[in-house]
Amino acid sequence: MDWLVQLIWYDGKFLGIEWHLWKGVGWMGNVAFTSRILVQWWATERRKAVVVPDAFWWISLSGAACLLAYSVYQRDSVFFFAYVFTFIPYGRNLVIGHRTRKTCRTCAACGVRSPASANFCPQCGHALAKGAAG
Ligand SMILES: [Zn+2]
Repeated sequence: MDWLVQLIWYDGKFLGIEWHLWKGVGWMGNVAFTSRILVQWWATERRKAVVVPDAFWWISLSGAACLLAYSVYQRDSVFFFAYVFTFIPYGRNLVIGHRTRKTCRTCAACGVRSPASANFCPQCGHALAKGAAG
């Protein structure tokens, strides 16, 4: 167990890291990027189908913002360009997801949402009401 204590509290510092505000911002970005995968996995396991919830994109945006800020602080061009353009697909996915949900139909039998063009629920086969999106 001594090796574990040495790993956690190394050289008089937590994880041996020289902590300061910007290091905290960068690590928050890392934690966000890791947690978004757990959120997506949880949503997928819940539905038993591959699902990318809005939370995934919001967490991605916040993680990218943290890591972008950290890259500016570090004046690291490689790190900066790795995150600066990720805002475009993350933002677009949120907008497209919002637009798609507005035109979706909700199955009265099981609550699963389907595209407006669907006539039957892909989950339970229940006929979807014509005309009424919701
Ligand atoms: Zn259904």
